[in-house]
Amino acid sequence: MANPYIDPNEPGFNPAYRGTPPWDIGRPQPDFVSLEEAGEIQGSVLDVGCGTGENVLYLAQRGHDTWGIDLAPLAIDAATRKAAERQIQPTFLLADVFELDALGRTFDTIIDSGLLHVFTPDLRPRFVAALNQAIVPGGTYFMLGYADDDPGPGPPGISPDGLRSAFADGWRINYIRPTRFDINETPVHKERAWLASISRAMAPPPA
Ligand code: SAH
Repeated sequence: MANPYIDPNEPGFNPAYRGTPPWDIGRPQPDFVSLEEAGEIQGSVLDVGCGTGENVLYLAQRGHDTWGIDLAPLAIDAATRKAAERQIQPTFLLADVFELDALGRTFDTIIDSGLLHVFTPDLRPRFVAALNQAIVPGGTYFMLGYADDDPGPGPPGISPDGLRSAFADGWRINYIRPTRFDINETPVHKERAWLASISRAMAPPPA
């Protein structure tokens, strides 16, 4: 069956946002709320692949200078509309995660709610290189993504070993914990997910 969320003629998961995709739950993912309440989310925040922006809106409301980027115009339109309705002022931009240098700034924290887990392993080095350009030394990347050994339908997913090898150079894995990715009611889906905290080294690795 064709993937209803993707069309090669449209950017990102644009077709998904003509309806309400399973991941678009209308509230922040519980793991990001817990991280924020525990004080783990520091300073300015970039949400890569922010969708309709619930995690961004939540963190902006909590006082973080928060930006959300996504490749899907319909997602960014919806996020921008919600920000206006709720009178919250984050920054939403149509942008490609593989071109984060175009943002022209860095962030203390990067969050990822279901983006890395959609990429096949061959794309991970470019993804990590892009994060490197957008995060301050010592900054932390938080990833929430499905497990790749879960047989349910959904994105390719990621494993702890996959994370360790993708972030082997110049990063420190703080933890990788089993968790759930909250979704709207769907008949079948993957169940198991990982929450990872990964910090960029303070100084560049020696040449
Ligand atoms: N974080 C959101 C959306 C998760 S779905 C949430 O939790 O609800 C993954 C998102 O990544 C989709 O909105 C898709 O359009 C976006 N995306 C896919 N490839 C991208 C890329 N190269 N750059 C930026 N966003 C991308």
